[in-house]
Amino acid sequence: MASPATGRIAVSSVDEERIRELHRFTARTLQTSRPVPFGALIVNSKTGERLMRATNAVMRESDPSSHAEVRTVRLACKKLQSPRLTGYTMYSTCEPCPMCMANALWARLDRVVFGATIADASRHCLQIYVPAKEVARRSDMDCVVDGPVLRELCNTLFTHPNMQKAFRSWSTHKSGKW
Ligand SMILES: [Zn+2]
Repeated sequence: MASPATGRIAVSSVDEERIRELHRFTARTLQTSRPVPFGALIVNSKTGERLMRATNAVMRESDPSSHAEVRTVRLACKKLQSPRLTGYTMYSTCEPCPMCMANALWARLDRVVFGATIADASRHCLQIYVPAKEVARRSDMDCVVDGPVLRELCNTLFTHPNMQKAFRSWSTHKSGKW
């Protein structure tokens, strides 16, 4: 679909394929003792070559900042030995929260593409209601934010029975007793 303002192709079939790949990668956790619905992938914006991918590890690492996007950026920057990811695009199964979006901006990513939305995730766990596009708009950095892409597919990560069971042990579980 082309954006009338810029003529830019917003979301392509390549984006959908990457979200599908990331969905498969993230869905693998559903069969483990620590399922998570959040996964992120960073690829070279031009060649599509995969640089890094990771899932949320907040519970595993006892670290509230171990969101999938933050971890993926951290690992990608370590790999490149650089704090700058200009020339790279990040895909995420869910719209980045303000922390993750801010980190993506600090990393100077070209573009962020997400699957499910913050509103979708909020049905299952606590969220901060600032859209990723709004965080990007209110910054000095140029980062294109596209999504939702394959929203329903990404939502199945949240609604899977193993995930629903695991949410009950999360510190950010919506009905919050743990
Ligand atoms: Zn986040």
